[in-house]
Amino acid sequence: MTLIAPQPRHAILPVPMPPVLSIVVPVHDEAAVLPDLYRRVHEVLDTLGEPWELILVDDGSLDRSSEVIAELCERDQRVRGIALSRNFGFQVAVTAGLDATRGAATILMDADLQDPPEVIPEFVALWRQGYDVVYGVRGARAGESWFKKATASGFYRLMQRLTSVPIPVDTGDFRLMDRRVVEAVRQMPERHRFLRGMVSWVGFRQIGVVYARQPRWAGQTKFTLAKMVRFALDAITGFSHLPLQLASFLGFTLAALSGLAIVAVVFLRLFDSSQPLLGQATTLVAVLFLGGVQLICLGIVGEYLGRVADEVKLRPLYLIRQRWGFDEPASDAVPRGVR
Ligand code: UDP
Ligand code: MG
Repeated sequence: MTLIAPQPRHAILPVPMPPVLSIVVPVHDEAAVLPDLYRRVHEVLDTLGEPWELILVDDGSLDRSSEVIAELCERDQRVRGIALSRNFGFQVAVTAGLDATRGAATILMDADLQDPPEVIPEFVALWRQGYDVVYGVRGARAGESWFKKATASGFYRLMQRLTSVPIPVDTGDFRLMDRRVVEAVRQMPERHRFLRGMVSWVGFRQIGVVYARQPRWAGQTKFTLAKMVRFALDAITGFSHLPLQLASFLGFTLAALSGLAIVAVVFLRLFDSSQPLLGQATTLVAVLFLGGVQLICLGIVGEYLGRVADEVKLRPLYLIRQRWGFDEPASDAVPRGVR
């Protein structure tokens, strides 16, 4: 005879529903916009009727952002906060957020409300139709300088020419990603990150939604010209080897040209003695030109080599100072890159 032990009767506790939608927002000195961000995200997501979570990643802010995040987490359990130990930059802050998401789909957006949360239902509808990535395409860009628009447009077109990964033109990081895509991106350990390229590289079914990019709600852009140049270099070196091949291309072209020049000089020397071959200035210009070309090529190799050196160090991608709304303490969070 088998004895069946009586099952213990558990008190029925309200089990928190796992979120279906995770919103990840990197925050750098955005204390002024956070309450409005929370309000608008909250309003939009509540109309969708799905459990959701908002993950705010404080990327080394010097203002009150951390305090505001802590207050929001206190007020609403669906808000969770991560404070990085210093400013690691947009791409890494987003990565820290992605590492913490639990939803079946994750939406990335900026804190400054330039990406209107009101577009999210459209993203979610397309995701429900079976798309794995729904990215925002910037139709109009209000409140941005002509310089920013011109450099951005030039950058997207250059990237299209240089890379084999089809990175859609005029898209930012405002996008929805299915769990599968988030997991794929999380498996990419690179330090110099260009998330839009990485998400394109992943593949699956992707589709764009045109939206009007709004002016900043408050505060100022955190992207200086120097940061933009570094970002563009990360994007190019991360997704194209064409610049490295430029040296061979230039080498062959210049060698062919000088081959022709040698033939011409020999010909003139042998058969046309009427004019002596002068050209101190030509020599100087040619030497300077070649010196310049060689240094540029060395510089290009240096850009790649420096990045390779950074990658092989295998430092953790980011460090966490504090977290709000997580069960386990921050010290238990495994730093990424340490394997
Ligand atoms: N940001 C960040 N770390 C940085 C710079 C920016 O987390 O080092 C965040 C910033 O708080 C914002 C988003 O990245 O949520 C986009 O920044 P910003 O609006 O300044 O860029 P822009 O829209 O001008 O390109
Ligand atoms: Mg912005």
